Order: sequence, then C-alpha cells, then structure tokens
Amino acid sequence: MRTNIPLEEAQNTVLSRVRPGGTEEVPILSALGRVLAQDVRAREDIPPFDRSPLDGYAVRAEDLAGATRATPAALKVIAEVPAGRVSPLPVSPGTAVKIMTGAPIPPGANAVVKVEDTDGGGELVRVFSSLRPESNIARAGEDVQMGELVLEKGMVLRSGAIGMLAAVGVSPVPVYRKPRVAVLCTGEELVDILAFLSPGKIRNSNLYGLAAAIMEAGGEPVLMATVPDRLEDIITQLEQALEAADLVVTTGGASVGEYDLMRDAFRLAGAEMLFWRVAMKPGTPALAAEKDGKLLIGLSGNPAAALIAFEHLVRPAILLMGGRQKWQRPRASGVMAEGFAKGGGPRRFLRVTAHREGGGYRVDLTGKQSPGVLQSILRCNALVDVPAGSSPLQAGQEVQLILLTESEDAE
Ligand code: AMP
Ligand code: MG
Repeated sequence: MRTNIPLEEAQNTVLSRVRPGGTEEVPILSALGRVLAQDVRAREDIPPFDRSPLDGYAVRAEDLAGATRATPAALKVIAEVPAGRVSPLPVSPGTAVKIMTGAPIPPGANAVVKVEDTDGGGELVRVFSSLRPESNIARAGEDVQMGELVLEKGMVLRSGAIGMLAAVGVSPVPVYRKPRVAVLCTGEELVDILAFLSPGKIRNSNLYGLAAAIMEAGGEPVLMATVPDRLEDIITQLEQALEAADLVVTTGGASVGEYDLMRDAFRLAGAEMLFWRVAMKPGTPALAAEKDGKLLIGLSGNPAAALIAFEHLVRPAILLMGGRQKWQRPRASGVMAEGFAKGGGPRRFLRVTAHREGGGYRVDLTGKQSPGVLQSILRCNALVDVPAGSSPLQAGQEVQLILLTESEDAE
C-alpha cells in the first residue's frame, strides 16, 4: 500500500477504477440535471417548414421594384395565413398573402414585407419600400437541420437542453443512472441531529453534509447507521454498505490514534488497500481500498477536512460514474486581500471567497482554517491551492484558485 502520496496520484488511483454505470429512461422533466446517455440527432428540421419571422405580407420581391412612400406598390390581398395554418392560395404576380409570425410562406412568395412598411390594407395593400428576394424568410432547418448532432452523450441536461429534447421529439430521455454512494460515519462521540447531547458527544454533521455533497455531484446517497469505534460494528456496516451502494465513503477513524480502526476495518472486510494518507491539508488521513470492483474511500472525521477531501477524491469519482466526461473544476489566479500566516508544511487548501474584481479575482479567507471548523465552509466558493513548502502568504500575493461554483458542464 502506498502512503503519503501526492493528491494527483490519489485521484488517478481512484479514477482509474471507476467507469460509468448503467442507463435508464426517464420522463423529460425528470431528466433535468441528469446526464444524457446517448447522442441525440435531429430527426427533422427545426423549423420544419419555411416560415415568416414577423407579421406582414408574403410577396414576390419583383412586384415591389421601385416602391417608395411617394410611389407605393399596390398588391391585391388574396388570402390571410395565421400561424398553424397553410395559405389556400399561392402568391401570383401582383398579389400578396397577409401572413403572421410563424406561418408558412405560401408557394410563389420569395419575401415578406413587414406590416410597418405598408398601409396594412385588407383587400388592397400599398407597400412603401422594395425588398430583396429572401428578405424576412426563415428557411426550414434554420435552427437545426435534420441529422444534425444537437446534444452530446455525457452532457448535463439544463433547461435549454430540455427545450431542445422537446423540439426534436425525444421523450422519455436516456440518462445515466445516479451512482449510489453509501455514507458511513464512525465515532463513539456521535449522536444524530435531534438527540440529547450528553457530555462528550457531538452531533453527526458529516452524515448530512456528505450526503448533500453526493447529491450535488449527481449521486444518490445511502445513509448507513452511525457506529461507534468498534471494529466488528464498522465491518458489519461496511459489508451492508457494499451491498447497498456502488461506492462507499466513511468518516472518522482514519488517523493514527488508538481508536482509528478504518484501515483494519477495510482490510478485514476483504478489501485491498490502495493508499493511506494524502499529502494535503486538510484531509491528510484519507484512505482508499477496493473490493469486488467497488471503491471504499475513508475520510477524516473532521467536518471541513471530510468535505474538502470529498471534493478532491470522491466527487470526481461520482461524476465519472454518473457518465460525466469531465471532473476537473475550473482554475484561475487570484490576489489575496489579506495574508495567511502559516507557511512551510504540506500542500494546503484554504477556504476562501473569490469574487471578480478588475480582470481577476479578489480572494478573502472565509474564517478559521483548521480541519474541524465547519463555519468557514459556508461562504467558501473557492479553494486556494498553496504548494508544499510555501512561505506565509502576503496580502497582494497572486495565488492559484480552484473555483467551486463555476460548473464544468459547459465543456
Ligand atoms: P477522527 O477522524 O475520528 O479522528 O475525528 C476527528 C474529529 O472529527 C474529532 O473531533 C471528531 O469528534 C470529529 N468528528 C468525527 N466524525 C464526525 C462527524 N460525523 N460529525 C462531526 N464531527 C465528527
Ligand atoms: Mg474518531
């Protein structure tokens, strides 16, 4: 088993062992936020026919030659065509068909003159300007052509994509199944949200924080029973978690203390250890193992450390298992608005708020950076990636950011 490994090695180890799960078909609105499992090509043109983009008169451009306000062209109005109907008559020389936005262009017409350039006549219309052929005609397939690739496998379906699926006639929609991710929290001191806090106890925040993070990554959380630091209990829950889920995440007991049992528990549950300890702060005591093709990832019990290590090690796995192509967050450089006194030591991820200022980002610490402090996660929309062995950060110093709110869907 490798230990004290660089974060990138830990990520590669995890990600080389995951692949997209199965697919399912869901009703179109249930596909919102899901990952498309097949390329979608248009089976027809959109729009399906040549149409008018405005209210006016369908004409032959030739009939308007030389028309001006002083010398209007006069055309006989032979029909009217609202959207959804078809003109009963073609446009012949000297005639016009009154046409509404979205209505099909009648045969014989090669332009549409907008109502504002006419006197709006009902039987005879006077037109005050000339037009080139093709003016104001939206051709069939102007938006999407039959056979065109409109949506790609692996993309996250947002409202625009849902509209497009409807436009090209696709429902139900093929999507990847959500990976099921078990969360198992261990610790003698843990009690659930509403329980009485007897001396020495603390509420289990990881169970819910991580379950929510799993949902944000497109997974389906499976909440396991919380267990004390007892090897047999942990193993029993691990076995159930492996039954119930595609991936297992644990918190607590990952460190070097006497009650830190997770490595033994993974091994005794029959898993092969992949690594223990990652060279980063917070989240150093992360471990990973594999059993029957399923990954088990153990995280520190410290709430902020657990969430940040989840961000680096678990979220990417959930994204790939859920059919996404990309897992990297966008990076950017920013400028520290204040200093950070701790230098030296391993690679560090600082909880910060990054907001655009001038051409770049202004970076403010969100609060205390210790691994047990959850409060500074709240307004955190980015992490500063501080290389190992760095000197303390000064105000005004340029730093590398990992942006947590900007989505990678677009790529
Ligand atoms: P551990 O990783 O078990 O050494 O725990 C590190 C710290 O995180 C200790 O102070 C624990 O009490 C705390 N902790 C562990 N698990 C949780 C949890 N599920 N929710 C909140 N705090 C926790
Ligand atoms: Mg513990």
